[in-house]
Amino acid sequence: MEYVVAAVILLVVLVAGVVGLVVPRLRRRQLPPPASGPTTTIERPPTGEQEDPLQLILPEEELPPLVVEEKPPVQEPVRELEKPEPAAGRLVRLRARLARSQSVLGRGLLSVLSRDHLDDEDWEEIEDSLISADVGVEATQVIVARLRERVRVLGTRNVAEVREQLAEELTAALEPDLDRSLKTAPHDGRPAVLLVVGVNGAGKTTTVGKIGRVLVAEGRTVLFGAADTFRAAAADQLQTWGERVGAETVRGPEGGDPASVAFDAVKRGTDLGVDTVIIDTAGRLQNKVGLMDELGKVKRVVEKQGPVDETLLILDATTGQNGLEQARVFTDVVDVTGVVLTKLDGTAKGGIVIAVQRKLGIPVKLVGLGEGPDDLAPFEPAAFVEALLGSDG
Ligand code: GDP
Repeated sequence: MEYVVAAVILLVVLVAGVVGLVVPRLRRRQLPPPASGPTTTIERPPTGEQEDPLQLILPEEELPPLVVEEKPPVQEPVRELEKPEPAAGRLVRLRARLARSQSVLGRGLLSVLSRDHLDDEDWEEIEDSLISADVGVEATQVIVARLRERVRVLGTRNVAEVREQLAEELTAALEPDLDRSLKTAPHDGRPAVLLVVGVNGAGKTTTVGKIGRVLVAEGRTVLFGAADTFRAAAADQLQTWGERVGAETVRGPEGGDPASVAFDAVKRGTDLGVDTVIIDTAGRLQNKVGLMDELGKVKRVVEKQGPVDETLLILDATTGQNGLEQARVFTDVVDVTGVVLTKLDGTAKGGIVIAVQRKLGIPVKLVGLGEGPDDLAPFEPAAFVEALLGSDG
């Protein structure tokens, strides 16, 4: 019996020995060749999950090393900066965007003007067309009175001539000699500072981004200040606009003090030596006193470092005469130096430009003609009127 037990033990030891010699070789052969990329060799940790019970008795050092492919270091994708379009001549290029206004004003007016003889009713129809395009009652009366007088004195019969005279009167109503340039050049060793104000949804943040692109296209360096700290999305949106053209955005904690973000933006812009700092502000209109306090403070705090060069009021053209009422709240609070009329592509009431400028006494400097990044045009009265009346007259 003892012999039998001894023989069994011997057999087990022999089998274990043979298996120990053969299995690792087999396993080594089955392993894939090492990857060609950068590799790191690590020891296989004991897992306790092996299916083959034989492996349990294999000594740890007999196990072949695991070859694990090392992941290449994660690299931030290099963002290609966009090359924005230069702003010159954009109004002419984007004139088709005024098609809705053109169909109300241009076509309507030209069909009346083409009549042989213009009587009182025709002149009333002309007035109605201008009023329905939001030119405003007061401005319409002035324009029609002057046109009527010219037609009478000159005895104009030719449609093309009447159209020309109408274009001249509309252009004159837009005061073409007003200074519409933007003060964006650095001076006294500091950047020019632009403050952008307006009600939420008017297109402030978008316009800040678009103006930044216009300046970058002109070879300027720009920094954005996201002083609308009440909406994190606004700061994110602005930052994205900036990243596309290589402009830094200074932002603060959500709900933080807008004036302190504005101050930091100007300070950072000065330290970096950028040409222009553009500050986006919040436009919550529910409380005029609160808004006044907030915007007044932003301006005062920024002015500790130097004057604000330009305060632009952003107005949504589709809000028509309502927008004018809102505009007054802002012009009462801050010294607005220019108006940007956005969303003119989405309205048939392009005449609002005339009303806005006349009522506020502030030049319209830029117009928004779409949601695209370069759909912002310097405002040129004569080109605008041509686009409104259409070239088919
Ligand atoms: P904010 O709240 O005043 O900062 O307004 P945003 O800049 O966020 O703009 C509100 C919406 O108006 C966005 O969907 C913009 O894309 C849109 N918008 C801004 N300007 C224009 C424009 O000129 N034309 C059109 N069609 N949409 C515009």
